[in-house]
Amino acid sequence: MTDLRSYIREIPDYPKPGILFRDITPLLADAEALNHAIEAMAAPFLDAGVEIVAAAEARGFIFGTPLAMKLGAGFVPIRKPGKLPFDLHSFAYELEYGTDELQIHVDGIRPGQKVLIVDDLLATGGTIEACLRLLEKCDAKIVGCSFLIHLEDLGGEARMEPYDIHAVLKYG
Ligand code: 5GP
Repeated sequence: MTDLRSYIREIPDYPKPGILFRDITPLLADAEALNHAIEAMAAPFLDAGVEIVAAAEARGFIFGTPLAMKLGAGFVPIRKPGKLPFDLHSFAYELEYGTDELQIHVDGIRPGQKVLIVDDLLATGGTIEACLRLLEKCDAKIVGCSFLIHLEDLGGEARMEPYDIHAVLKYG
């Protein structure tokens, strides 16, 4: 069994003082660890009838597309403003300083389609909450959220109710 935790590099004070950044690039660079991570992120959802995997740029894309292929689903990107060319739903959300915004194509997901949301890491939950609101605007049926890493002390879980969270690695 691959010890996935040993492939996560901890970088103190990045991107600013006081933040301990979890660097996933050593895991991505190792064929066995990457494959194991995808399998573990997909495992609870193999029989969930997932039709679409949705993920936000940029690290969500890395895991979202192989998960979609593993689950026999399509992939729908959620992007920062100015990147998607067709008609859009948008959701703006608060950051520590200022706001950010994410967008999805209005026809990316048909009403009632079963959608799994994927990201590399759940921290404060701001990113994934924006994804949830966009998918609700599409009338998607959200079957759950799958993460590689959950930083449990940062309160992200509370912003995701009532949806199910699955995380392969948990840091308290
Ligand atoms: P949140 O919106 O939950 O506060 O932050 C999660 C988002 O920020 C994810 O999309 C993730 O890619 C990025 N992120 C925040 N902290 C880290 C970290 O320590 N490591 C990595 N790899 N990504 C992070």
